[in-house]
Amino acid sequence: MDIKYVSTTCPYCGTGCGFNLVVRDGKVFDVAHWQRAPVNGGKLCPKGRYAHEFVNSPDRLTKPLIKKDGKFVEATWDEAYDLIAEKFRSYKPDEIACLSSARTSNEENYLMQKFARVALKTPHVDHCARLCHSSTVAGLAAVFGSGAMTNSIMDISESKCVFVLGSNTFEQHPLIARSIIRAREGGAKVVVADPRNTPTAKQADLYMPFVSGTDVAILNGLMQEIIKNGWEDKEFIANRTKDFEKLKEVVMKDTYSLENVSKTSGIPAESLRTAAEWIAKADAAALIYSMGITQHTVGVDNVKSTANLMMLTGNLGKPGSGVNPLRGQNNVQGACDMGALPNVYSGYQKVTDEAAQKKMKEMWGVDKIAEGRVGYTVTEMVNLLADRPGKLKCMFIMGENPMLSDPDLHHVEEGLRNLEFLVVQDIFMTETSRLADVVLPAACYAEKDGTQTNTERRVQRWKKAQDPPGEAKPDWQILCELGSRMGYPEQFAFNSPEEVFNEVAAVTPSYHGISYGRLDPDGLHWPCPTEDHPGTPILHREKFAMPDGLGVFSPIEWKPPAEVPDAEYPYVLTTGRTLWQWHTGTMTRRSWSLEKEAPTGWIEINTEDAKKLGIEDKEVVRASTRRGSIDIPARVTPEIIRGVMFVPFHYKECAANLLTHNALDPIAKIPEYKACAVKVEKIAEV
Ligand code: SF4
Repeated sequence: MDIKYVSTTCPYCGTGCGFNLVVRDGKVFDVAHWQRAPVNGGKLCPKGRYAHEFVNSPDRLTKPLIKKDGKFVEATWDEAYDLIAEKFRSYKPDEIACLSSARTSNEENYLMQKFARVALKTPHVDHCARLCHSSTVAGLAAVFGSGAMTNSIMDISESKCVFVLGSNTFEQHPLIARSIIRAREGGAKVVVADPRNTPTAKQADLYMPFVSGTDVAILNGLMQEIIKNGWEDKEFIANRTKDFEKLKEVVMKDTYSLENVSKTSGIPAESLRTAAEWIAKADAAALIYSMGITQHTVGVDNVKSTANLMMLTGNLGKPGSGVNPLRGQNNVQGACDMGALPNVYSGYQKVTDEAAQKKMKEMWGVDKIAEGRVGYTVTEMVNLLADRPGKLKCMFIMGENPMLSDPDLHHVEEGLRNLEFLVVQDIFMTETSRLADVVLPAACYAEKDGTQTNTERRVQRWKKAQDPPGEAKPDWQILCELGSRMGYPEQFAFNSPEEVFNEVAAVTPSYHGISYGRLDPDGLHWPCPTEDHPGTPILHREKFAMPDGLGVFSPIEWKPPAEVPDAEYPYVLTTGRTLWQWHTGTMTRRSWSLEKEAPTGWIEINTEDAKKLGIEDKEVVRASTRRGSIDIPARVTPEIIRGVMFVPFHYKECAANLLTHNALDPIAKIPEYKACAVKVEKIAEV
């Protein structure tokens, strides 16, 4: 028997834990702890511990499939490539859109955006960061000049006050939660604000339950209290920021007195006062947030407000501080860094910048790329497909499942069915690939080399542990072969992910100094501009990444969610994840150890609300919004604030996104997953 251990990086969340894949006779069969792993020191959450279980699932895709007369028929790679290249060539660039994937490597995301821009000449390339943290990228870039987590995961343990807002860190990023525990052991106060009394909230010194969608009011209220008491960091404000007076004009309004914020948010004024004092008086305070902040029609406003609070208290550019968005998918940071976005090339070089266009054309050796224009976001693509059929005609989707992940699923399905030609590249048949004309079988993380970049900007390696099943191929290889068949053999002449990465490093200033040789065993935090640069765990130490080096305060008024409760839909619906499942469940629902712990969804209803509705715990109820209805078991609990209901979004049999709506943040185009109006009814017995 041949046993080997291959160190790699977890394919689930943005924490980026390392582990060993245990390989027996050429097949992955277990995960073993890798004590040397830089982020997690050998510890894993259940998803990482069982990250081998889906790899050799019997229903992996193993051959290309072409739909004929409504049925998928197995095809050769040549048949699939020829059909795809012929079809792609038959559309105008503006009629084609590509979705890249936060589940795939940096190299593959880089190649997908290059394929879109060079081979298809289309500006329409995006990926699921649009749905989780596009407001972070836009919001933090506007105020700091860089749209990423400012400090490192380890650094959180140096904090003296950790404020967690809109993140259930202990369930969703458990190995980051360890840093919060370490901070508390070092004397830090932990403040958690969340509509649900989550495992994270239970660890707090101060828990503040609040009504979804009132974040800006809360943050403005905290800032007013800090300014009223003179607790702001006057030196930091004077030397490192601008527009403080503009901020004051808004946050000092009576609307944001603690008493009024208490009425808006449901948080007692005394709790808000305590939180303000703890955050302001701590030697170093860190703010942690996740999708509770970003997934709103005011997502960018929410993000800017978190930045306001931390600049006001001087909590940037030093250990134990910072604005720390926890990214969702394993490589959502990297997919953004690689330019799989409609407005930027890799390293956030703007597509509208003529110098950047010229540089990319020279680097890629082409006279023409999709240039000068920002393409459609994922959410705009779906809206166009459904509402203006014929504008977009063809899509290429790699490793994404919009038929479960996007808001208002009836609308998504209507849109995707309007496509003339759809190619989906994935590791399993998904709700989306079922609608495709061609399905391409891809290798999973355990079957290829590559890199991914975690939430703290640390670039780490994936290492191949086994061959892909059947005829499945790594995404990078499929993209290179397609690029070549589209007429760009030189531009896609890569023989390995390392060769792709070398091009990434050459064209991307923040990755210039990174190479495969430097990544073992600890990875490197970007920016890493030169080959002898040690990487940058803490951003903005001396100045912000703005032309004048100053952070920008943003005066922001609170606005309610796009859809608020009324007589017909009297409750607020919010959505999220569970510890045991991951996103659309493509991988975790094929992991028996995880699936048995949380085999289906539920709707969390406050005990008093349930009493009023006559609903019992575990009773299957009908939850409805203006978009649709699902039948789902009730979980009656005092651990969610009255008036708010929660549904996890992993489960196709009771899909939360049949209920959510696609009202978008005007800048980030992120949907408001975290607040819409819902009603819940007993299901009449027949
Ligand atoms: Fe994987 Fe995230 Fe769990 Fe770490 S915390 S093991 S990266 S899912």
